[in-house]
Amino acid sequence: MEETVPTITKTTCPYCGVGCGILATVGADGTLAVRGDPDHPANFGRLCSKGSALAETVDLEGRLLFPEIDGRRAGWDEALDRVAETFSRTIAEHGPDSVAFYVSGQLLNEDYYVVNKLMKGFIGTANIDTNSRLCMASSVAGHRRAFGSDTVPGSYRDLELADLVVLVGSNLAWCHPVLYQRLAAAKAERPEMKVIVVDPRRTMTADIADQHLAIAPDGDVALFNGLLAHLAEAGELDENYIAEHTTGFAEALAAAWRLDMDGIAAETGLDRASIAEFYRLFAATEKVVTVYSQGVNQSSVGTDKVSAIINCHLATGRIGRPGMGPFSVTGQPNAMGGREVGGLANMLAAHMDIDNAADRERMQRFWRAPVITSAPGLKAVDMFRAVADGRIKALWIMATNPVDSMPDGDMVETAIRACPFVVVSDVVGETDTVRHAHVKLPAAAWGEKDGTVTNSERRMSRQRPFLPRPGEAKPDWWIVTEVARRMGFAEAFPYASPAEIFAEHAALSAFENHGTRDFDIGAHAGIDAAGFDALAPFQWPARAGETPADDIRFFAEGGFFTPDRKARLVPVTTTAPARTSEGFPLVLNTGRVRDQWHTMTRTGKSQRLSQHLAEPFVEIHPTDAATYGIADADLVRVTSARGAIVVRALLTSRQREGSIFVPMHWTDQFAADGRVDRLVPPIIDSTSGQPALKHVAVRIARF
Ligand code: SF4
Repeated sequence: MEETVPTITKTTCPYCGVGCGILATVGADGTLAVRGDPDHPANFGRLCSKGSALAETVDLEGRLLFPEIDGRRAGWDEALDRVAETFSRTIAEHGPDSVAFYVSGQLLNEDYYVVNKLMKGFIGTANIDTNSRLCMASSVAGHRRAFGSDTVPGSYRDLELADLVVLVGSNLAWCHPVLYQRLAAAKAERPEMKVIVVDPRRTMTADIADQHLAIAPDGDVALFNGLLAHLAEAGELDENYIAEHTTGFAEALAAAWRLDMDGIAAETGLDRASIAEFYRLFAATEKVVTVYSQGVNQSSVGTDKVSAIINCHLATGRIGRPGMGPFSVTGQPNAMGGREVGGLANMLAAHMDIDNAADRERMQRFWRAPVITSAPGLKAVDMFRAVADGRIKALWIMATNPVDSMPDGDMVETAIRACPFVVVSDVVGETDTVRHAHVKLPAAAWGEKDGTVTNSERRMSRQRPFLPRPGEAKPDWWIVTEVARRMGFAEAFPYASPAEIFAEHAALSAFENHGTRDFDIGAHAGIDAAGFDALAPFQWPARAGETPADDIRFFAEGGFFTPDRKARLVPVTTTAPARTSEGFPLVLNTGRVRDQWHTMTRTGKSQRLSQHLAEPFVEIHPTDAATYGIADADLVRVTSARGAIVVRALLTSRQREGSIFVPMHWTDQFAADGRVDRLVPPIIDSTSGQPALKHVAVRIARF
């Protein structure tokens, strides 16, 4: 009997923003095996613990397999009709701003593109936001005000080429493990390479650091403003780059002088010698990459932190050249893709600007849309406030679980429960969000979906299907397309495949774009199904008529996307907010652990992954633990002004005195009373709208 050779499918990991390539093989008995794709330029064959365990997470237990209306099984036609009719009626009665979509960095570019098109060009509101608002909105805002565009200037390769890598608010070892592995391997090969970690916690990332700066919560603006002032004082600026390619330097430097060394030490909680050593190393090293992540972004001063970092790179001309530049790493697999398609409430597709009349006109003309949104919509926190006070009367949530991930989670749940019409499309049948849906739509999951994602270095890669879609699950792009057709927009939503959507997105990116925007993948505008099927990972820009390149960098020679083509240094004067009080004397920091993802709907299925850390916990410095009479492994009640949770104490001197850490993953489904989002108040960065998830005033007591 002839043996069948198993087919190997090249796809991409569905977890973090590193975007590792995966080879998936389904055996004759239906078992799945995954390994790293040695040819993928993000990971070159490496995978982390989460990626390696993917095969353990694709069973159908807990899957939403059929459409449901008001708790009963329904057919697709009935469910889609109900969604389209209710949204159309609500819009007719209350106007387009009475409806909202809350989507996700888990969506593929093609899903994201069609839902954004429906909302902004055909319904006529920008009330579409994404859980990526919780992830990198401050980076987007910081990029846009410095560069005139949301551009990550460099590539992963720059972390390997740098002589100094500064990691700010980034536990790369746990949150972007393969990128960390690449950095650690480069440092092992070139021990003279320096790594500095700026983080209140001594995370695993600090294990390879030459210096760990245990900065006080939100002390980053003071630290990097001080660095800019030091660089000026030490004569280490690139005067030519500043003069030729930037504006605003004098104002930024004046703001940077706000604090002297004692002031910087007071605001950062660091000793003067450590600060001076960091400044000396930065000044003395040309090839510097500053990597930053949620410790920077998830803050009420997140955008200013981003600006303070970018200012230092612009003032030294250390940007866009091999081994240099500010580098934001995104949390989710497709947070970057969401930015490209305009998945945020304040952006249009293809990096066009909602506030720019010419961009709006161009967008409307390309889409042949009846309307185009004329103003930014509600960002995530404001969107759920509007649900709570009745302004939003119909809400569609896609591929995300806001009850367990938004700040003030209990308020979010109350708002969703009271909303007159809630649609949830998801792969999971029961979450704290799904249970409140009037209409549940079963979505295709990783392994069944077909499309593209974009990683943190602007690299687009294919996610390809290799498993049959179970039950009646459908791709998200198909679900949105069918609703759009039923709402009367059939002509503008003709799509029969993700390849057609990708081709339209590529054509839009090049439409009347004569080098005026960074995002351009026009080389793929005419792609057909076979070309899409074979599409290899590539970085943007990929302009029509240009030779494809790799490790593409922006801005080494200026050419920013501002009207005068110069970068803007932004004066930043914000100080670290003071939130603690007598009643709530400690600062709560929230974040990820190595082997779990989001609210654990996938990683929670793997016993292997759960062995790393089996339950939610609170990290406490031994000195603080002694103050509150808490011993290791005690149950501890953590209380904020919003609520309380009970979690296990983990005493560790890796934690900074005066602050504690609780992971974000555990929901009530996995650990009663362990859901940390119910402690977090809805405080946001006023520029980016990103919630401050890492600076919450709390108290602790033995339970
Ligand atoms: Fe997946 Fe990120 Fe791990 Fe790569 S590093 S395997 S993308 S979770």
